[in-house]
Amino acid sequence: MARILVVGGGAAGMMAAAVAAKKGHEVLLFEQNEKLGKKLYITGKGRCNLTNACDREELYKNVVTNPRFLYSAFAKFSNQETIAYFNSIGLATKIERGGRVFPVSDHSSDVIRVLGQELKRRGVKVLLGTKVKEIMDDNGCFALLVTEDEKKYFGDACILATGGLSYPTTGATGDGYRFASQLGHHVTELFPSLVSFKLKEPFPAELEGLSLKNIRVHLVADLWYGEEKSEIGQQGKKAGSKKKKRRPGEILFEDFGELVFTGTGISGPVVLSASSYAAPLFAECAMSFHIDLKPALSIDQLDARILRDFDEAKNKCLKNALDHLLPQKLIRVIIERSGISPDRQAGAIKKGERRQLAGLLKDLYFPVQACGGYAEAVITKGGIDVGEINPSTMESRLVKGIYFAGEVLDVDALTGGFNLQVAWSSGYLAGLSAAGKDFPVRNGILENEQK
Ligand SMILES: Cc1cc2nc3c(=O)[nH]c(=O)nc-3n(C[C@H](O)[C@H](O)[C@H](O)COP(=O)(O)OP(=O)(O)OC[C@H]3O[C@@H](n4cnc5c(N)ncnc54)[C@H](O)[C@@H]3O)c2cc1C
Repeated sequence: MARILVVGGGAAGMMAAAVAAKKGHEVLLFEQNEKLGKKLYITGKGRCNLTNACDREELYKNVVTNPRFLYSAFAKFSNQETIAYFNSIGLATKIERGGRVFPVSDHSSDVIRVLGQELKRRGVKVLLGTKVKEIMDDNGCFALLVTEDEKKYFGDACILATGGLSYPTTGATGDGYRFASQLGHHVTELFPSLVSFKLKEPFPAELEGLSLKNIRVHLVADLWYGEEKSEIGQQGKKAGSKKKKRRPGEILFEDFGELVFTGTGISGPVVLSASSYAAPLFAECAMSFHIDLKPALSIDQLDARILRDFDEAKNKCLKNALDHLLPQKLIRVIIERSGISPDRQAGAIKKGERRQLAGLLKDLYFPVQACGGYAEAVITKGGIDVGEINPSTMESRLVKGIYFAGEVLDVDALTGGFNLQVAWSSGYLAGLSAAGKDFPVRNGILENEQK
């Protein structure tokens, strides 16, 4: 029997520990918080969207960064196997809109509870309130951990599942990146992702709280102008960066769905998805967010529709003649952008002006200032370079006996249960591989724990 050390009691770490222990090894799970799964608890607005019931192709499509790295992990432990696994350890699940899988109880605490019970059943020793400070390796196959109280723990293998930087209040300290770097690994540039956008001033404050459904959106590369050029760099890189610049007008992302205006910008599903692609691009170009409010209508159809509305309300002011087409909060914004007086009679609006209004409804755009920060980001984009990790085992190619799982990896996915699936699959494979390793005989060194 070998001893396997797992650092991080989140989704990936708990899965890895449970799987390794099931294979009969002694497993120690280190978690700095006073309880397991602090981030899991807040997932899915407290309901935990633990995976997605989509087919294999969709699963890969929803992984934004390095999906190919996950071939083995998903093959060993797919989303369907995840559902079956949770059902087998006592969690009843249900499938909702878009294939999102939740516990029937709607309580993320139940996901944590069944995982905790499984760890207990498999004899995993859970060390809560135990922060790992340093990880050392001895001859590339032996991991040594030093905790806050200076106690050392020895093991034959070590699984790093320390998560990323997003939502630091859950224990996301980025320690894993430091440990990996100290072990010789390269960590790619890190960005907050699945996060809102801040829009440039002046931003129409009355839009706050407005939710738009069934819209088409485009994120478009813009030119950098004078002063603006240096502002754009604030997401991490200065505007003078040597990275390739984007052609103005280039479409960086497009989607269909729902967004919501916040106090400083925009959020909601299509914005979070856009951020997954946009975060690294702030160093390459300015950007604006374009909204087609009427994607089902061509500009001619929309013009005809506006004409009809204006005919029916010909004696009303323009500001009172658009309420069949637009939410109240948007009417002033659209009219102001058109330059037409809001007090003109609808019947007196000329054809060219009407076309202009239709154009604004088809392409209402806002220059983007930046992405929100880690405090509100669902996930960290970037992480430990997957080129240095064996995708069939999750073992480091540089330090034998070290494994990685979860958000600490340079892998990120869209919303819908996909990020947790990455954590479960990579955690499962890391735990299984560590447990299946041929361990050298250690001559009692494991008894040698020191204070
Ligand atoms: C608000 C929010 C909602 C989300 N909702 C969903 C959702 O519904 N579906 C979905 O798929 N994804 C969701 N996610 C993403 C998902 O939570 C993460 O992908 C997932 O938790 C990553 O798991 P992990 O185990 O890699 O990291 P974590 O869950 O962050 O776990 C890492 C653990 O390591 C511990 N740790 C770190 N450093 C040390 C150290 N030095 N010593 C000891 N312990 C350490 C931390 O305390 C932490 O408990 C959400 C994220 C957020 C922020």
